[in-house]
Amino acid sequence: MIPTPTRAAALDRLEAFVPHAARYAGRRNFDLGAGKHDGVSGLSPYIRTRLVTEEECTRAVLAKHSPCAAEKFLQEIAWRTYWKGWLEMRPEVWRCYLETLAEQNKTPSYEAAVSGNTGIACFDHWVHELTATGYLHNHARMWLASIWIFTLKLPWQLGADFFLHHLLDADPATNTLSWRWVAGLHTPGKHYLARAENISKFTNGRFDPKGRLNESAPPLPMDFVPERQPLHLPPDPTPRGRIGHLMFPDDLAPPPESMGKITATAAFVPPVLETTSLVSAFLNGAVNNTLHHLNGSRLDGSLPSAISDWISAEKLDFLVVSQPTVGFTKDFLDAVQLPIHLL
Ligand SMILES: Cc1cc2nc3c(=O)[nH]c(=O)nc-3n(C[C@H](O)[C@H](O)[C@H](O)COP(=O)(O)OP(=O)(O)OC[C@H]3O[C@@H](n4cnc5c(N)ncnc54)[C@H](O)[C@@H]3O)c2cc1C
Repeated sequence: MIPTPTRAAALDRLEAFVPHAARYAGRRNFDLGAGKHDGVSGLSPYIRTRLVTEEECTRAVLAKHSPCAAEKFLQEIAWRTYWKGWLEMRPEVWRCYLETLAEQNKTPSYEAAVSGNTGIACFDHWVHELTATGYLHNHARMWLASIWIFTLKLPWQLGADFFLHHLLDADPATNTLSWRWVAGLHTPGKHYLARAENISKFTNGRFDPKGRLNESAPPLPMDFVPERQPLHLPPDPTPRGRIGHLMFPDDLAPPPESMGKITATAAFVPPVLETTSLVSAFLNGAVNNTLHHLNGSRLDGSLPSAISDWISAEKLDFLVVSQPTVGFTKDFLDAVQLPIHLL
C-alpha cells in the first residue's frame, strides 16, 4: 500500500494533521510501528513531489496555531529546506558520494543487512518495514543508520543508497546529509550513536537491543571539508510566445503566475528515479494525476528525444522548467541538454 499519489490526498493529509501540530513536539519521537505513525504527519512523499509545498504546510499550521505552539513542526519543515540549500552550495558532496558509492563492495554482511537478516531484531524489523512500505519513522532512520555504520561497520554510502532506493520521500540532499550527520561527517566530531535504552523508550518497549549495539564507537574520520560555492540563481525570465511547462516528479507544483500563460504542459519520470515498484507506482501516479488535471502530455523518460519532439510538436518558443536541485533529476536533465532551457 502506498499513500494515494494525488494533490487532493496530500491536502487531506495536511488538513488531518494540522489540529495535531501543537502536540507534535511531545509525540514525534515515538515510533510505534507501521500503521501507527500518528505522532508525525506522514507528509514527506507529498512534500518530496511538491504535491504540497513547504510553504503550504507552514501556512496551514500557522492558520490554526501560534508560531510558538507549532515551533517544532515548523523547524522540521525548515530542516528539509536547509539541507537542500546546504547541498546546493556544495554539490561536490553529492558528486563525492556517488563516486565513493561506486567503489564499495556488496559483502555478505551488506546482503544480510539489506535483507533484514542481521539478528538484531529492531534493525531487521525496520529494514522489512522500509522495503514493504517505502517509509520509516525519523527516529528509526536515525537508529538504523547508526547501527549500520557503528555496529555493523558497513559503509555509510551503501546505507544512504539503500534508503534512496526504497524511500517514497527519497531526497538526495536530506538523505545524503542525514547519513553524513549520523556518521559524524557533517559536524566534525559529532555523531549519532543509537542506544538500546533510547530505542526501548521510544518504541514503547517493542525492542530492547541491550548488549547488541556498539554504544561507544568514535565518529568516522572526516573525509573532506567541502568548499562553499555561491548559488547560481537564474536571471528573472521574461517568457513570451508559446510557453511550455515541463515537469518531473521532484516538482509537480504549478509554475508561478509570473511565467505567463502556459500553452502546453508535459511531464516525465527519469528512469533513475524508478527504483522499486512502490516508488515507481507513487511517482508515476503523482505525475499522471497532475497531468490529468492540467490536460498535459506524458513523455517517455527513457527517451531523451521525447522532450525535444514535444517541444517541436507544440512549436514552443520558451520552456519553463523548475530548477532541479542537486541530485538524480538534475544529473539527468544536465545529460539530456534541453534545446531551450528556461529556469
Ligand atoms: C538517515 C536519514 C535519512 C533521511 N532521508 C530522508 C529522505 O530521503 N527524504 C526526506 O524527506 N527525509 C529524510 N529524512 C528526514 C526524516 O526522517 C523524514 O523527513 C521524516 O521521517 C518524514 O516523515 P514525516 O513526513 O511523517 O515527518 P514529520 O515529522 O511529520 O515532518 C514533516 C516534514 O518535515 C520534513 N522533515 C522532518 N524531519 C526532517 C529531517 N530530520 N530532515 C529534513 N526534513 C525533515 C519532511 O519534509 C517531513 O515530511 C532522513 C532522516 C535520516 C535520519
